[in-house]
Amino acid sequence: MGMIKGFMVPFRQIFKRKVTIQYPEQKRSKPQRFHGRHVLNRYPDGMEKCIGCELCAAVCPARCIYVRGMDNPPDAPVSPGERYGFVYEINLLRCIFCGLCEEACPTEAITMTQLFEMSVSNRDDAIYTRTELLMDSDGTVPHPQPDSILVDKGELRLADGWMRATAPSGRAAYEGVIAWTPTAGVGTRPAEKGQSAESHQSPVTSHQPEGDSGLGTGDRGLETSSDG
Ligand code: SF4
Ligand code: SF4
Repeated sequence: MGMIKGFMVPFRQIFKRKVTIQYPEQKRSKPQRFHGRHVLNRYPDGMEKCIGCELCAAVCPARCIYVRGMDNPPDAPVSPGERYGFVYEINLLRCIFCGLCEEACPTEAITMTQLFEMSVSNRDDAIYTRTELLMDSDGTVPHPQPDSILVDKGELRLADGWMRATAPSGRAAYEGVIAWTPTAGVGTRPAEKGQSAESHQSPVTSHQPEGDSGLGTGDRGLETSSDG
């Protein structure tokens, strides 16, 4: 009798919904705010969002970001600010994926994707440089192993995180307001679901005005909202 009861345990499991999937061929959809590998964003016109201010490096608790800013060449500026991130490196072996760099960045230049598959065979490859971090002018994000089955190109394409972990400055006035500057390849995204107040649905569609340093993007969002 005991043996029959024992056999019934696995037998009953056959008819239950499976909780496992065939990874990596199948992948679960991840939470919107999942913290994966970083990406350096561009504006739709191809300008780099990073202004080389080094705030991300200063705030990083793991001290795994190294940035060197350089003055923009007057004839061919790389970013809308005075400077741009000439050198940008993140040591992903030290990163704890806290997202503080994303929070600190005044221009939404550094954001985190939902891609967590970053296995490497030597330590040097875990240090992502501008080559791996900076998106192409069409919004495509490079990856060290582009042909790996682990790399979901769709996830990389939607790499720009258009939201922060918190509302800008935590102010209620930002609820439902798009406070994210458009990005190459994706453009402007809607406000995040579940945080939208009916009275704050005006989208921010304009690109950064000329001469704007890129600082205070949240304020741009509010200005546009009140116009609408
Ligand atoms: S996610 Fe956190 S630990 Fe990783 S680079 Fe950004 S601030 Fe540093
Ligand atoms: S905080 Fe943003 S703009 Fe400043 S260096 Fe870091 S990524 Fe670039």
